[in-house]
Amino acid sequence: KLYNEVQDLKGNIRVYCRIRPFLPGQNQSHTTIEFVGDDGELVVSNPLKHGKENRKLFKFNKVFGQATSQEEVFKDTQPLIRSVLDGYNVCIFAYGQTGSGKTYTMSGPGLSSKSDWGVNYRALHDLFHISQTRRSSIVYEVGVQMVEIYNEQVRDLLSSNGPQKRLGIWNTAQPNGLAVPDASMHSVNSMADVLELMNTGLMNRATSATALNERSSRSHSVLSVHVRGTDLKTNTLLRGCLHLVDLAGSERVDRSEATGDRLKEAQHINKSLSALGDVIFALSQKNSHVPYRNSKLTQLLQSSLGGQAKTLMFVQLNPDVASYSETVSTLKFAERVS
Ligand code: ADP
Ligand code: MG
Repeated sequence: KLYNEVQDLKGNIRVYCRIRPFLPGQNQSHTTIEFVGDDGELVVSNPLKHGKENRKLFKFNKVFGQATSQEEVFKDTQPLIRSVLDGYNVCIFAYGQTGSGKTYTMSGPGLSSKSDWGVNYRALHDLFHISQTRRSSIVYEVGVQMVEIYNEQVRDLLSSNGPQKRLGIWNTAQPNGLAVPDASMHSVNSMADVLELMNTGLMNRATSATALNERSSRSHSVLSVHVRGTDLKTNTLLRGCLHLVDLAGSERVDRSEATGDRLKEAQHINKSLSALGDVIFALSQKNSHVPYRNSKLTQLLQSSLGGQAKTLMFVQLNPDVASYSETVSTLKFAERVS
């Protein structure tokens, strides 16, 4: 194995926590973050309530404090991404309430400056770079898919027929891929191809967002990168797949306030995020039964969760005191799967 530098500490699941900085205009006098340790310790508390009993300690594989750059985050993610070239399947998720930095971590705040690039652009850049410069007899092909799951319906964000096409999920997962055979696959040969496709995907997402009021925070988006390596010497084939998932916001919706579409959305999100938590929990416990079938998200990613596949969850936090109860529930979700 050439690129599998990742130590398997806790099976194939690791959890990183990332705290986003305060934004300009946000009141910074109260933070819920008390301590960030070098070895993945995190202490949070409610600064408006005094007393030690109010402190909560959590432990992750890593915690990235508020000043961490996109590059630093990527550095700790890169080995996992490179293992795709060895034929592994890798899933990377960003979990957290709306506004906690999921999209920032996965995509970045915009494409204008490379230093802002999030994990997905850096991952593709890295995979291209390495597959093209590596001196070996292996020839790589890269294909990209991008889908969104909204209210338990899957849509192709890169379809030439427009974003509204609904896709079916097959009962059996495809080897090394999404369990959605009719999501369009686009082969890419350069970073320029990737940027163009991702712009299309983001635009298709945004089109529906204006119609449906900030839908992007209520849908999951999945970018899948399929890598096929053919060894010309030995005539063998390697396939790996990387799924980059920007999850819907995990915030709880007040049942007494939400009605109609908003309530329905909230129930779908809740159901799929718990299903994801249940799957990762079952995998971390090495349970023989893994409940993939309880949501579209877990069905879609079934062949890339468990088995030899590697999973990384970014748990995103907003340090603001107003977010404290969401922060605690985010951390409880993370604690269960880590
Ligand atoms: P989410 O996708 O979880 O709803 P966003 O990624 O959109 O959250 O982040 C919310 C806001 O915070 C955005 O304006 C984003 O640019 C900013 N932000 C998030 N994380 C960071 C960070 N690490 N550094 C600087 N700004 C950030
Ligand atoms: Mg977002």
